[in-house]
Amino acid sequence: MQKHNDEHRVQRFIATCRQHKLKVTPQRVAIYRALIRSDQHPTADIMFQAVQREFPSISFDTVNRTLLTFAGLGVVDVVEVFGGPKRFDPNVDDHHHMHCMACGQIIDFHHASYARLEVPAEIARSFHVLSKRVVLKGLCAACALET
Ligand SMILES: [Zn+2]
Ligand SMILES: [Zn+2]
Repeated sequence: MQKHNDEHRVQRFIATCRQHKLKVTPQRVAIYRALIRSDQHPTADIMFQAVQREFPSISFDTVNRTLLTFAGLGVVDVVEVFGGPKRFDPNVDDHHHMHCMACGQIIDFHHASYARLEVPAEIARSFHVLSKRVVLKGLCAACALET
């Protein structure tokens, strides 16, 4: 099921690239595949290490630039981070994040009442809101045990 879903996402990704006249190269597809396989909201560096196994001659710069290009097309998201390098999210559908401030993991979650959050009237007047995300900061269970 997961595999089927991944294929669907890759096909959608390829269609979006073509729409934007971005050449669909094996490297770009490999970068996207590695990103959707990860549920870690990885950095460009982690992505580089993953893709390098398949494409030993690829450079960090290429991976980093490719991820930023994907973000520009809206096929991936750049995660809100509190210091540290950019992190990327292959899930561009509405969801919320729990950040562990100790180990840095970011957990995706859904919550019905967050999904219904209203945009305050004064914001709605001056901003065209494209997405809403609730970000929770704290400690994951493992890190909470250590403190
Ligand atoms: Zn943690
Ligand atoms: Zn996420």
